[in-house]
Amino acid sequence: MENQLYIHNTLSRKKELFEAINPPFAGMYVCGPTVYGDPHLGHARPAITFDLVFRYLQHLGYRVRYVRNITDVGHLVADLDEGEDKIAVKARLEQLEPMEIAQYYADRYFIFMDSLNVKRPSIEPRASGHMIEQIRMVQQILDAGYAYEVNGSVYFDVEKYSKTFEYGKLSGRVLDDLMTNTRALEGQDEKQHPADFALWKKAQPEHIMRWPSPWSEGFPGWHLECSAMSTKYLGNYFDIHGGGMDLLFPHHESEIAQCQAAIGHESVKYWMHNNMVTIQGQKMGKSLGNFITLDEFFTGKHRLLEQAYSPMTIRFFILQAHYRSTLDFSNEALQAAERGLKKMLTACETLGRLVPATDTPNTEGTGRINALKTGCYEAMNDDLNSPILIACLFEGVRIINSAADGKERLNEAELAMLKEIFNTFLFEILGLKDEKGSDQHETIDGLMQLILSIRQKSRETKDWGTSDQIRDTLQKLNITVKDGKEGSTWENL
Ligand SMILES: [Zn+2]
Repeated sequence: MENQLYIHNTLSRKKELFEAINPPFAGMYVCGPTVYGDPHLGHARPAITFDLVFRYLQHLGYRVRYVRNITDVGHLVADLDEGEDKIAVKARLEQLEPMEIAQYYADRYFIFMDSLNVKRPSIEPRASGHMIEQIRMVQQILDAGYAYEVNGSVYFDVEKYSKTFEYGKLSGRVLDDLMTNTRALEGQDEKQHPADFALWKKAQPEHIMRWPSPWSEGFPGWHLECSAMSTKYLGNYFDIHGGGMDLLFPHHESEIAQCQAAIGHESVKYWMHNNMVTIQGQKMGKSLGNFITLDEFFTGKHRLLEQAYSPMTIRFFILQAHYRSTLDFSNEALQAAERGLKKMLTACETLGRLVPATDTPNTEGTGRINALKTGCYEAMNDDLNSPILIACLFEGVRIINSAADGKERLNEAELAMLKEIFNTFLFEILGLKDEKGSDQHETIDGLMQLILSIRQKSRETKDWGTSDQIRDTLQKLNITVKDGKEGSTWENL
């Protein structure tokens, strides 16, 4: 691994050299979706951000085990310790089993992430499938003396923990503020301290998602699953834990405390957080109700959308911003991304057609293309700076177009290196792809409309020969043409 990759560690608030704990292996855990609705642009960002990390680590030669969970239980409305489960609410509204809701939306999530060319993680564990591990961890925390049981529920003792460890070190929150700022809530009287959080909740009679435990029939607290599943699959100390910045507190802060209390040390070497997608300056989120789903982007069916945007346009739009910057949604920015990506892909096609200049020796002149390749690696090694990488690739586009115009000359070695740069960085690492031909139905329909209009003209001019030839040929292809008052339609049998 001759490349020196620096990543910003949220914990130290600095860029640190990435040194895997057990090279060539690298372990990465990322908080996945709570599956109770269609994914929106805000979900696409962490998926694409950590897909970029996954792809780049693999490119550098690491054998990456990438774990991304599916939250199908325990995530309560408004991210609180009291109230209804988000999935159970949806199940009640749609009169379905909670697991039907979880399965349906998990499947939808996979379909949309596939269309964004997000690689599937190595393991996608579900909270409901890891009850034993979660119950064991609650017991470990109780045994270590950092939790207490009240009426069948178990809470993490933040006040006691804070006497030895720093609760708030990741998010920068101060415990005193947490005490005064935490609103009084129903059920909080069970807690000894307002900043304490639930590890296990006793289920109320109306609560349908419940499991037996030593304390009560109930369900785990939301933060617990990630601590239990990350250490189960990646070991008690692993390389990267990622997620959106909105998860810093209380979710990730609580994960640190749970692992410290249960295992006796922290479990994560590098914490990485992507920034938010905003819409008119406000965070786009399901709970805020100001989101646009990926389905709506792909079909253009949303009042704020001027047109449909393809999956690769969305991916390029997200990668054009550094993952730690906010990304504001606008039609103008998406249209600019659409044009930019098209320009890039057109240049790739042009590159394939360029004939090498034979009057310059292959050994000369590769300096600037080499510098371009170095620039691409420098961008990625600097905390995965995808916008700088894209700027480098646009410099490549400029060189290609100028060679196509005959203003520059590129020899065989230079052309080969340019092809390698685009294959590696645009397709393999940024994960973009040419969508041409991906919608075959649209192409076929366009061709059929053209054929039918030619047939229509031949009929109008009584050119029966051409008209019959078209109908007979289509019939051999099992395509039936139906002539009606409104014109002709076609059907593929
Ligand atoms: Zn999590």
